[in-house]
Amino acid sequence: MKLLNKIKNHKCKHKKIIRIVLIILFIYLLLVGFAKTIQTIATFPAIFVNVQDVVWHVKVNIDFEEINIDDGNWKNINWLYMFAWTWVKTVYYFHGNGWPLSYFYNEIKYINWLWYNVMAYDYPGYWKSEWFPYKKNVDNFSEAFYKKIKEEKNIKDDKLIIWWYSVWTAVATDFATKHIFDKLILVSPFASRYEMAEKTFWFNLAKYLFLNNSYNTKELVKKINRPVLIIHWNNDKIVPFNQWKEVFNASISKDKYFIELDDFWHNYIINTYGNALKWIVNNFLNGNIFNIDENYIYINEEWKKQLEKINKNKDFINNLDLESDNSITKFVNSKVSFNDKKYIPKNLEKIWSEFVFDNKWWRQIIRKEANMALQKMANRFMYNFNKKLVVVSAYRSYAYQKWIKDRGCPDNLCSKAGYSEHQSWLAIDIFEASSELNWKKSPVLLNYSNWLNENAQEFGFTNTYQKWLKIDGYEIEPWHWRYVWAELASYLKENNITLAEFYFNKNK
Ligand SMILES: [Zn+2]
Repeated sequence: MKLLNKIKNHKCKHKKIIRIVLIILFIYLLLVGFAKTIQTIATFPAIFVNVQDVVWHVKVNIDFEEINIDDGNWKNINWLYMFAWTWVKTVYYFHGNGWPLSYFYNEIKYINWLWYNVMAYDYPGYWKSEWFPYKKNVDNFSEAFYKKIKEEKNIKDDKLIIWWYSVWTAVATDFATKHIFDKLILVSPFASRYEMAEKTFWFNLAKYLFLNNSYNTKELVKKINRPVLIIHWNNDKIVPFNQWKEVFNASISKDKYFIELDDFWHNYIINTYGNALKWIVNNFLNGNIFNIDENYIYINEEWKKQLEKINKNKDFINNLDLESDNSITKFVNSKVSFNDKKYIPKNLEKIWSEFVFDNKWWRQIIRKEANMALQKMANRFMYNFNKKLVVVSAYRSYAYQKWIKDRGCPDNLCSKAGYSEHQSWLAIDIFEASSELNWKKSPVLLNYSNWLNENAQEFGFTNTYQKWLKIDGYEIEPWHWRYVWAELASYLKENNITLAEFYFNKNK
């Protein structure tokens, strides 16, 4: 009997311990779940201005403008606008979470350099922007800021690009559902607060402790049918990688693309990946069709390195096609003609009237590839000197060149028909606009040519005739520039050789 009691007591004690352990475990889970929930609420979005704000503003040393904006409460907001050109697209850039706009400044500058106007502002509570980044406040700021800048800078809806980072993808998707725009880019997208809470802690009850599931990118993209490009790092620790898929699958857009990145971080994607990403993003934004399968692009470290090295990559340079008539790098000079002497290129575009000497048609038409480059170059020139570059001659057909020759232009100055670089629709004669009356007299002395000699290669142009008759086949012509890709133009410049020297060295 004694023994029986002992066993009973023992069992009882044992039960008690189990019960206590279970209670502790439950309280632990509840507390941790609650703490994580609060952490998720507090971090997505981060509501406090941290010391990074000050550090980054000092570091980049830029002057932001401040406007008092009517978001219903007349709050102060801190913003910037970077101008590229009047007719180009405008990127409305929503910066990432927990860091101020100044932290993203280098990326914004890079996007601007790619030739987009960029507008952005610090979220409420960041840097000098007032109030707190509650969703409602951010929504109001986004609207009020856009309304003001759109009016001031004359932004056209169909040229608006919306570019979002991480948690703010939800704020900007909201914005996008209310506006007409061209395209959108989502970087490291955040599916929703619930998804983030589940990721932070598996204890699903946590998500029901939220008041609501605001910041819901996944739901909002169901209302947007414009083209979308999503970019995500495959090892993202802040917003888990799988969230891109939820957003991507939920999107009703028929024109959606995804880029998976290796070796990257949550923020700062575009300049980190440089050339590798630049090409894809530019193609997407300009509406060019991708040559890819299933709308999925994977950029790994190897590809990145490959593309970064392209300037110095001998294989790339050596494998350029200098022979086919339609190649961007087709070589023609006094000794080498087009294979089809009456060749006419495809893919032609009109040069913006800003950059042509007058409205004669042969000054205005150029191949698409060269057009963008020319406009960028002329824009940069304008930015530096407040003066215009203008094209005085772009195209000469076989017949037109024949007509010039028949009038007696000598061989050292004018090509025979079928031998002119102008027939490629890639060569242009350019002058600084105010020198239009003098250029015929002393083009060599024109002040713009130094600038072109230093900078044109960056845009893909090379000065074909620099080294006289014996080497280039014609006399020196500082006004004659040929588009050949930035990679080849830079290579020629670095090695101080002309296109003719490059061609004849290769064919030795
Ligand atoms: Zn010319």
